[in-house]
Amino acid sequence: MESQQKFPRIFSLEFFPPRSPDAEQTFQRTLDRLAPLRPRFCSVTFGAAGSTREKTFETVCNIQRQQGLEAAPHISCIASTRDNIREVLEGYRSNGIRHIVALRGDMPSGMLSAGEFRYANELVTFIREETGDHFHIEVAAYPEMHPQAPSLDADLRNFKRKVDAGANSAITQYFFNPEGYFRFIDDCERLGIDIPIVPGIMPITNHTQIARFSEMCGADIPRWMRKRLEGFGDDRSAIRAFGLEVISDLCRRLLEQGAPGLHFYTLNQSEAVLGIWRNLGLDNPA
Ligand code: FAD
Repeated sequence: MESQQKFPRIFSLEFFPPRSPDAEQTFQRTLDRLAPLRPRFCSVTFGAAGSTREKTFETVCNIQRQQGLEAAPHISCIASTRDNIREVLEGYRSNGIRHIVALRGDMPSGMLSAGEFRYANELVTFIREETGDHFHIEVAAYPEMHPQAPSLDADLRNFKRKVDAGANSAITQYFFNPEGYFRFIDDCERLGIDIPIVPGIMPITNHTQIARFSEMCGADIPRWMRKRLEGFGDDRSAIRAFGLEVISDLCRRLLEQGAPGLHFYTLNQSEAVLGIWRNLGLDNPA
């Protein structure tokens, strides 16, 4: 873990683009509550195969212009052409955006053509070819392995391709086992990977939702956590209190052992992030 301790700590937030007037209101309220935390940047997700392209763009510009916070759009390349991606990059560049989260994304069901990019390392190479050093490029990392990878080792080598292509830093898929993250960092060190790898943090506020997300993305919910969550049944406030305690402990351990910051998957909700932030004393740095 030593190599990560030299990087300045970065605390960042992730949002998704709201798609209805109600969702827009919730997003604005959440942003107003979280903006005073002064995150280093706010990232905005990109729907499968560009389905939220305009909405992501609008949301990114809103965060950067209206809140004065640095905004970073996610861009996924699956099912895209070079011309599509060039246009998206130009749109961001001409609107003062300098930070991007570059992803492969997942093929939407029913879509047949994979487009001109196969993997995220090709997207990183393309962004560097087209725009030089204009953008700070984040990529995704998977301490518990990407669900489609044949092995941890293959996945790690594929992660290195993105770093070699020019990624500046990485955000991990969320996890609940800190040991897996520490081991992943040690493996990265052995391969000479020398960029900040910031843990992605998923607050727990809803049992069904966290079980569904974890099933999809391959995040392991430890048995003891699953049993406790099951025991709460429909008691939402007990689940929220438990989630706050468990995730605050996870974050504390990660930071104590040298993680270079935290990236919160807000799901456009403020309460859990504010609670964790307070528990960690981040609003009142010593
Ligand atoms: P890659 O790095 O390309 O990896 C995908 C798989 O291919 C892995 O199994 C890897 O081992 C393998 N692989 C990679 N390169 C090669 C190669 N050269 N040869 C052979 N195999 C290779 N999805 C969205 O749709 N929108 C979002 O906004 C979004 N945001 C995300 C943010 C974060 C922080 C994370 C962790 C994930 C996000 N995702 C998002 C999900 C992501 O798109 C999926 O996990 C997707 O399946 C993989 O994307 P990737 O960029 O990690 O792909």
